[in-house]
Amino acid sequence: MTNGISSRTKVCGIFGCPLEHSFSPVMQNAAFKATGLNYIYLPFAVMPGQLAVAVEAIKALGLSGVNVTIPHKEAALFLLDELSSEASLIGAVNTIVNRAGRLYGDNTDGRGFLRSLKEEAAFIPAGKTALILGAGGAARAVAVQLALAGIKKLIISNRSGQRAVELAGYIIEKTGVRTQTTPWPEREPETLPGDVLREADLVVQATSIGMHRSTRGNGFLPPGGFVGGDKNALQSVPLPFHLFRAGQVAYDLVYNPMETVFLKKAGRAGAVTVGGLGMLLYQGALSFEMWTGKPAPVEVMRKALEKECFSKG
Ligand code: NDP
Repeated sequence: MTNGISSRTKVCGIFGCPLEHSFSPVMQNAAFKATGLNYIYLPFAVMPGQLAVAVEAIKALGLSGVNVTIPHKEAALFLLDELSSEASLIGAVNTIVNRAGRLYGDNTDGRGFLRSLKEEAAFIPAGKTALILGAGGAARAVAVQLALAGIKKLIISNRSGQRAVELAGYIIEKTGVRTQTTPWPEREPETLPGDVLREADLVVQATSIGMHRSTRGNGFLPPGGFVGGDKNALQSVPLPFHLFRAGQVAYDLVYNPMETVFLKKAGRAGAVTVGGLGMLLYQGALSFEMWTGKPAPVEVMRKALEKECFSKG
C-alpha cells in the first residue's frame, strides 16, 4: 500500500549509490500494493563513507529493513549485530532486517539464484558439476550457494586468473567442495578446454559482459547514451558454443536484456536457458518475506520487473 501513508506505514528501502537504475523499488512496492500490506520501499542514495551513519539510522528511524547494494554490500558486514551463515560465507550483505532494534544481516542473492534454478530449469545442484564464468561478487554468491546445496564440483574461469584461483581456494577451504580453475577464453574460444564445457551440467555466466550499461551502478550511461548504441549488450564471453548440449543448463546472471547473446547461442546449441531476472526476483521475494513474515506475491513482482526491463531495455 504505497498510497495513504500514515504513522503506521512500515518503511523498507535500499542503500546504494547510484540507485537510478535499481529495479527493487518498483518490484517491492508492487508486492506491498498487491498484498495490501501497509509498507513502502524507498531508494536511499547512501554515499561512500556514509554507510555507518545510514545503518544506525535504520534503528533511529525504525525502518523495518533495507536491501544493500553496490558499493556497500561488503562494508555492511561489519556494522550489524548478527549475520546469517550465508552472509558470512559470501562475505557480503544484501538484506538487513530490523529485529526490535537488533540488526540482522543476510544475503539472499545465492538463495534467490538457487530458487530460480529450481523453478525455471528444475535444476537441483546435488551431485552435479558447474562451470562459473566470473569471480566477482555475484560469482562468489553463486559459488558459495551451489557448494552449500551439495554441488559435486565447481570449475571457475575468470579474466583475472588470480581472482579465480582465490575464489576456488576459498570454496574448498570453507565448504570442502572440489574446485578447479580453467583459463579465461579471451578472444580465442578454443582456449577454454572443450571437456570443461562438456563436463558441466550447469554453466553460469557471472560477468557483466552482455548487460545494458545503463543497468547497474558499476556500468554507466554517459549523457546522451553510448555513441553507436550500447555495444556491451551485444557481447558474450567467446565460448565454443557448439559444445553446449541438450540437458545442460546455461544461466546468465545478467537480467537486462532478458535474453543475452550468451543465452541465445547456448539455447541454439540445445541447452536450457535461464536469464538473471529470476535471481533478481527471488532474492527480492526472500527479502520481502523476511521483512513482512508473509509469502511474497512472486508473479506480481515478476511482472513489475519485466515491465521495468522493457521500459529500460
Ligand atoms: P563485479 O564487478 O563484482 O564482477 C564483475 C565480473 O565480471 C568479474 O569477474 C570481472 O572480471 C568480469 N568482467 C567484467 N567485464 C569483463 C570483460 N570485459 N571481460 C571479461 N570479464 C569481465 O560484479 P558482480 O559480480 O556484482 O556482477 C556481475 C554481473 O552479475 C553483472 O552483470 C550484474 O548485473 C549481475 N548480477 C545479477 C544479479 C541478479 O540478481 N540477477 C545479482 C548480482 C549481479 P575481472 O575479475 O577480470 O575484472
